[in-house]
Amino acid sequence: MEKFRLLIIDDDENFQALLGFMLEEVERSEYDLHFCYDYKSGLTSLYEEEWDACLLDYRLETGSGLELLNSLKPNPVNFPIILMTGQNGGDIDIKALDAGASDYLSKDHLTGELIDRCLRYAIKTKKSESTLQRIAMTDALTGLANRARFKKALIEYKARADRNNYQIGLFFIDVDHFKQINDSIGHQGGDNVLKNVAEHLINSSRKTDLVARLGGDEFAIILDNLRDAADAARIANKIIEKCSVPQQMNLKEITARTSIGIAIYPKDSTDIDGLVNAADTAMYETKRSGRNGYRFFSNELHKKAKQVARIEHNLSGALDRGEFEVFYQPKIASSSRDSIGAEALIRWRVGQSEMVSPDLFIPIAEQAGMISDIGKWVMRQVCTDAINHADVSNLYECDSIAVNVSPRQLTVGNFAEVIQSILDETGYPASCLEIEITETALASDGERVMRQLNAIHEMGIRIAIDDFGTGYSSLMNLVEMPIDTLKIDRSFVMRCLQSRRHRKIVESVCSLAHGLELTIVAEGVEDVRVANYLEKLGCDVMQGYYFSRPISNREYFDNFYHHNTKKIAV
Ligand code: C2E
Ligand code: CA
Ligand code: CA
Repeated sequence: MEKFRLLIIDDDENFQALLGFMLEEVERSEYDLHFCYDYKSGLTSLYEEEWDACLLDYRLETGSGLELLNSLKPNPVNFPIILMTGQNGGDIDIKALDAGASDYLSKDHLTGELIDRCLRYAIKTKKSESTLQRIAMTDALTGLANRARFKKALIEYKARADRNNYQIGLFFIDVDHFKQINDSIGHQGGDNVLKNVAEHLINSSRKTDLVARLGGDEFAIILDNLRDAADAARIANKIIEKCSVPQQMNLKEITARTSIGIAIYPKDSTDIDGLVNAADTAMYETKRSGRNGYRFFSNELHKKAKQVARIEHNLSGALDRGEFEVFYQPKIASSSRDSIGAEALIRWRVGQSEMVSPDLFIPIAEQAGMISDIGKWVMRQVCTDAINHADVSNLYECDSIAVNVSPRQLTVGNFAEVIQSILDETGYPASCLEIEITETALASDGERVMRQLNAIHEMGIRIAIDDFGTGYSSLMNLVEMPIDTLKIDRSFVMRCLQSRRHRKIVESVCSLAHGLELTIVAEGVEDVRVANYLEKLGCDVMQGYYFSRPISNREYFDNFYHHNTKKIAV
């Protein structure tokens, strides 16, 4: 015989006794009955103990059963409640179901069998309902709460924090370079990595916190009753530490590091959307400043996020409004001090005077998916500028112009074809074009990037590695990539006379490049002593404020371009 724990909330003691008799007669089930005689103790018992079902009287001395049902709505119980009414007619039945009752019974025609049938049916239905709900709210891969559950939970946690006057924390967590991990060990392996991360998150947080997978490699944690920021930092550190341990997967060693953004309610925002934005902003800041760490949301970040939003907004029409310009910075041969070419650098003029630095807007254009169009425009502009000033009788002796290319340009669309069509259209020779890419270009979708680079190189365009030594450096890249030039980053060049270590790096990169028969370019040459030192070292080409700042198209093509004719007067 099945046994059920049944809570009965009714202020009529005689009726309670009657119910007891009726249910004792039932043959199929055994009921363990608990009685509450008023609204308040009924409410407490509903939440504090485990029940299979509850019979609730419509009329209670202090308040009605309907009111009680309605008060449960924000935090529903997971067993059925059946409302019993003394009156016939009216629309109490509808009201009862609306308020969340599983069923209703009229007190006038009750029998044990009827109550039993009604209870069994309600219990069974409720069980399958909760199973369905659990499935709908769970992430199938990791077993964590999914986005839908996370959204609901955030509302519940906030309401609880308001009632009890405490803080909650919100973590947004993103796996660093997950795409690369997926590429290297396959989707199955990637899934296992996500499962591991999920486990680390569970083990780093408390039972009362909610850990969710929001999708892809994005996770979130809601931290209940957060004492202070230090507590959040401790949990973040735990996560980072656990995720930094390499795992063996598909015979490869994989480390799935994480970037975390932290926002605190109500300090950082008093509403949920604001809180989510704050955690997201902080997470992006972590990613921007080198990943594998955590950041708290701050006012400063808030200002920055607003600035980014403003730039992104203005950026969207900038091409059409003709706000971009290309500047050129001459490149100088170390031995002859001749100008032998230039690097093209984009400029954005907003309004009459304001110039926005490419260091500021290029990353935003990359994020917003606008860099391909902008990059295409720069390429076309450079080829047009150059062909207009070239000696048409001797095109192939032109100075070479280098154009910066963002990693994204190599992973979306077919960039090699884009360049080819611009060359065809303008008549500019491929041999006078160089592209500068950073090593991070290989970080995502390395194979595809490599295919593009090979195609570009085969067209006769030179390829330079920009900012060498600052990125995701791997000597393997130097072996496998079709490159002609190494540009040693200006941070090393600028300090090479003050710091022995910086000098050693400049020297080593120079000899490495020469060993590989690559041209070496030093950027950021700001004074004569550095220039002389680099010349002695055998560095081939120099570029920097000492020779010239980036200058307008006119200044450059009038004064420097005409193939090697103009000596730099220094
Ligand atoms: P980058 O490729 O490393 O470009 C060199 C930057 O160093 C330029 O800054 C240049 O003005 C600056 N510079 C040159 N000589 C000196 C010097 O002697 N001392 C110092 N302190 N700085 C010097 P700029 O023009 O602000 O460009 C910044 C970055 O923006 C570039 O760094 C590049 O990554 C990006 N960028 C510029 N134009 C484009 C473009 O057309 N496409 C893409 N994708 N990125 C671009
Ligand atoms: Ca560059
Ligand atoms: Ca550079």
